[in-house]
Amino acid sequence: MKVYQPGRKDKGKIAIVGAGPAGLQASVTLSNLGYDVTLFEKESQPGGWLRHGIPEFRLPQSVLDGEISRIVEMGVTLRCGCEVGKTMTLAQLKDDYRAVLLTVGLSKGATLPLFNDASPVEIAVDFLHRARAHSGNITVPQSALIIGGGDVAMDVASTLKVLGCESVTCVAREELAEFPASVKEFTTTQALGVSIIDGFTPTAAVGNKVTFKHVRLPGELTLTAEQIILAVGQHAELEAFAGIQVQRNTVETQHYQTADPAVFAAGDIVQGDKTVVYAVKTGKEAAQAIHHYLEEA
Ligand SMILES: Cc1cc2nc3c(=O)[nH]c(=O)nc-3n(C[C@H](O)[C@H](O)[C@H](O)COP(=O)(O)OP(=O)(O)OC[C@H]3O[C@@H](n4cnc5c(N)ncnc54)[C@H](O)[C@@H]3O)c2cc1C
Repeated sequence: MKVYQPGRKDKGKIAIVGAGPAGLQASVTLSNLGYDVTLFEKESQPGGWLRHGIPEFRLPQSVLDGEISRIVEMGVTLRCGCEVGKTMTLAQLKDDYRAVLLTVGLSKGATLPLFNDASPVEIAVDFLHRARAHSGNITVPQSALIIGGGDVAMDVASTLKVLGCESVTCVAREELAEFPASVKEFTTTQALGVSIIDGFTPTAAVGNKVTFKHVRLPGELTLTAEQIILAVGQHAELEAFAGIQVQRNTVETQHYQTADPAVFAAGDIVQGDKTVVYAVKTGKEAAQAIHHYLEEA
């Protein structure tokens, strides 16, 4: 039985840039309010980190595909392979749509200059993207050293283990009491046989050898591995949105509205938690903020 039917679209056109959880939720809320919504997504498939980052064994693709097809059934137009800044500009979107919502997330993995002479080194989210894109059919090393202790580091470590990597070690600068990964991710990763070393920060990296020092104590540690993976954070790529106020990875907004009144922002690029639940919450609230703005216009 078809539950979702496209509703009326008589309130004008809205563009959303980025089809991650924030953009997808905003498209649903705006569609329910009577807007004709188009989602512009640079990748060939929608979902943001739900599709390209979080491993399949934690979030089956069929669940995501089901949710997205319901959104399309509601009448939201999805334009994948459209990168705003390359395929079209923000100025063009502003001309063609009553308002634009930016939900572009933190799409690029960070690196550390210390690892410039290390090899082979891969960025955590690139590894996860590659593993998902090939449904896990990738060559895995016999040993891997992951730098970082957040949920992304845990996802890389558990993915490597699930794919058959024998020895996986995570080294984090935080000590256990303040570990950034969630307890659930930490314990699941440990249960898979990953070694987690806390309180050590890298001081030198040459070839496949990394030296660490303890953050408080006089200890030093040197580890080698067939592959090094950096899980040291993600940042936003906001060059295409010149004109809106940006502070590091955060777009400055007043209740989701940027200094340009027709441009709004939500998800990981606004202040607050970097979680799926928070992205969805901000997507919904930003959609309502757009509605209020346009009702008053
Ligand atoms: C590996 C990993 C694991 C995680 N695990 C969890 C977890 O277990 N629980 C949790 O709550 N959170 C988790 N997170 C965090 C969570 O995924 C993010 O907080 C959430 O996805 C943010 O949603 P978003 O919509 O703001 O951005 P994103 O999910 O990043 O989506 C942004 C979208 O915008 C697109 N885009 C970017 N630039 C452009 C452009 N110029 N033009 C068009 N499209 C563009 C991107 O391709 C992407 O599809 C994880 C993140 C990662 C990386």
